[in-house]
Amino acid sequence: MEYRSLGSTGLKISAFSFGAWVTFGRQVGRSAARDLIACAYDRGINFFDNAETYNAGDAERLMGDVMADLRLPRDGYCVSSKVYFGAVKDPRPTQRGLSRKHVLDACHQALGRLRVDYLDLYLCHRPDPDVPLEETMLAMDTLVRQGKVLYWGTSEWPAERIEEAHRIAAERHLVAPSMEQPQYNMLHRERVEREYAPLYDRYGMGTTIWSPLASGLLTGKYNDGVPDDSRLNHPDFAWLRDALLDNDGARLKTVQALAPIAADLDIPLSRLALAWCLKNPNVSTVILGASKVSQLEENLKALDAVPLLDDETMRRIASVLS
Ligand code: NDP
Repeated sequence: MEYRSLGSTGLKISAFSFGAWVTFGRQVGRSAARDLIACAYDRGINFFDNAETYNAGDAERLMGDVMADLRLPRDGYCVSSKVYFGAVKDPRPTQRGLSRKHVLDACHQALGRLRVDYLDLYLCHRPDPDVPLEETMLAMDTLVRQGKVLYWGTSEWPAERIEEAHRIAAERHLVAPSMEQPQYNMLHRERVEREYAPLYDRYGMGTTIWSPLASGLLTGKYNDGVPDDSRLNHPDFAWLRDALLDNDGARLKTVQALAPIAADLDIPLSRLALAWCLKNPNVSTVILGASKVSQLEENLKALDAVPLLDDETMRRIASVLS
């Protein structure tokens, strides 16, 4: 496994990490979750991503249960939670958002579900226009100073709001955000490559990027329809299927156009897509999702594929993506 710094922090996280969205508590039960976490940890993954909203808290419960069962040493891995959407269906006003109350309540609840004394990473899952930024930052500052959170960050915040957070942190001597969690894959590049470009050097922001395979689209498994046992066939994710497969099939056409490049390197398209994410030096970690151990094992092979992506291959990829 390769380890990268989380931006300018001293934390070394694995270049591939593992997340629980969609899968834990929905597609995957206890036994499969245990196998996935054990495989990930054995292969050197040291960052596990979660959120209060994933399956209404059940993803965190399952992850905490399995990690306790596996007796993973607490100093050997990092775990995150994210706050904003709430952990219950139809949350009341105080059960969601980024108010001081919910940021603190959600942290305490995540600690309980994950069965840990502190969160390594705690992220604001989306910006909250109804809450003054300073209030959220004071809540994060409190949690960091209490030792309940080590690093706090944002997910899918506009660059200007992140810059404002750094300005407030400097003025008020508050702990600044260390990382952003944006979507980044061959089909979704604008924010990481352009909007956030000024943030990396100026503020030392790290990135923990999500959906590196665009929910599996970049494996090519959706080229000929939606497989029965796949995420996009799950009734709760019809919205995602519609979002990814619409646009006159433009995304699928791009996926098909990438296939010959992977074939020339004699690797599966998924491996090319993941290695491409790792090539970006502003990516601190690529969060993998998997519903089967075989997927995770295959995806980890992408670490060895990075050297195959030479300048000529990157140019070929860029010409398909442009
Ligand atoms: P991916 O885009 O990599 O999609 C993962 C899914 O693709 C798997 O669950 C599986 O679905 C399919 N898949 C993966 N590998 C293979 C393979 N080798 N062959 C065939 N199918 C494969 O990542 P996710 O969308 O899951 O995102 C990763 C993590 O990022 C999440 O778990 C979560 O922690 C985080 N995240 C954060 C968000 C945020 O707003 N901050 C939003 C979304 C995710 P299946 O078997 O069902 O087909």
